[in-house]
Parts: sequence; structure tokens; C-alpha cells
Amino acid sequence: MSATVIAIDGPAASGKGTLARRLAEHLGCPHLDTGLLYRAVARVMMDRGIALSDAEAAASVAASLAPEQLDASRLRGVEMGEAASVVSVHEAVRNALLAWQRRFATQPGGAVLDGRDIGTVVCPEADVKLYVTASAEERARRRFREVSATGETTTFEAVLADILRRDARDADRAAAPMRAAPDARHLDTTALDADAAFAKALEIVESARS
Ligand code: C5P
Repeated sequence: MSATVIAIDGPAASGKGTLARRLAEHLGCPHLDTGLLYRAVARVMMDRGIALSDAEAAASVAASLAPEQLDASRLRGVEMGEAASVVSVHEAVRNALLAWQRRFATQPGGAVLDGRDIGTVVCPEADVKLYVTASAEERARRRFREVSATGETTTFEAVLADILRRDARDADRAAAPMRAAPDARHLDTTALDADAAFAKALEIVESARS
């Protein structure tokens, strides 16, 4: 079996990240959470006190991202997701991150990448494309549980509003909007727990590879 490239896209809290990680573990290949790249660009901008709307500065940060800036512990959280969504609107930022993502995808052992534009822009030739969704209410419930578990105080309504705003920004931007590729298989995880979602995803991957 030749190296398999798996592209997984979908909105925030759809379960795509967990699926991507588990599929990569199962197949024994590397996984890239591309959201971390956009989060890291936003983090550096914020640390340096630069406005997230400054496309030129953001592109230059993106072009010189170092691996140590991808430390996930500083990039998690609703606030960083929102900031990442603001910098990811800039086409120059997306272009600066493209070659790196493609190199990751084409390494000899295959790879799993998850994000918003993997099947459409980063890896249009991927062997398997999954578009993972869940209702906005279910995604907000999941995110609310996660956020509450960290001790942060918020409300379900606030989390739902954040999710809807981020969905709209990611789907409506001109540069590489969040979209299912025409040849993507759709997986709705609204009524599925993590194990059931993984079993379905694996079924799709196995049938596409055989
Ligand atoms: O997936 P995650 O929530 O970490 O992504 C944070 C933000 O980064 C997304 O809301 C989106 O705006 C941006 N992003 C993107 N393209 C990707 C991955 C993430 O625009 N491939």
C-alpha cells in the first residue's frame, strides 16, 4: 500500500481534531493540526502587540514561524481560536503557510492533516477526504463542557455565539474559505461519541484505500 494522505476538514468542535489524531495513530503516520499554525501566528502577533488586522506583519510572522512557537499549550483556548480566525483571513498569511503544509503532506510515510481548506487547497490530491460536521448546538455543548472543565466561567449561550461567529468568518472569507471538497465524504458526528465517530471514519478511510 502506497503512502496515504488523509485530508480532514470541518468547523470548530466538530470532532475532526480527535479523529485526525486517532486515524494517524492507527495508520502509524504523522498528523498535522493546521489550526495550530494560524493560532501560533496570532499568538506571536499578540505577544508583540501587533494588530491582528495587519496583514503584512502577519504574513511575515507566518513566513518565519519556528517549531517552538507551535507549543500547543500556549495556543489552546477559545480566545486563541478566535484570534487565529482573524489572522487566517489574510491571503498572504495562508500563502506563507502553504508550502510548509504541502511538504508535511507529501512526506514518504503519508500523513493526516486537519483544518478548514485541506481537501480544497492544501491537498486537493489527497487519497481520502473527510468533511466532519456536527450541529452548532452540539458543538457548543462539547466546547462548553471542555471550557467549564478548565475552571473558566462562561455560559452555553456565549460559547454558541462564538462558534457561530467563527463559522461565519471561516466560511465567508474570500481566501480558502472553509468548504467541503466536492469529492469529500461527509461525516456528521452530532449523534456519535468519539469511538463511534472513529469507527465510521475508519470505515470510510479503509474503503477509500482498498
Ligand atoms: O482548528 P482550529 O480551531 O484550531 O483553527 C483555528 C482557526 O484557524 C480556524 O477558526 C480558522 O480560522 C483557522 N484555520 C484556517 N485554515 C486551516 C486551519 C485553521 O483558516 N487549515
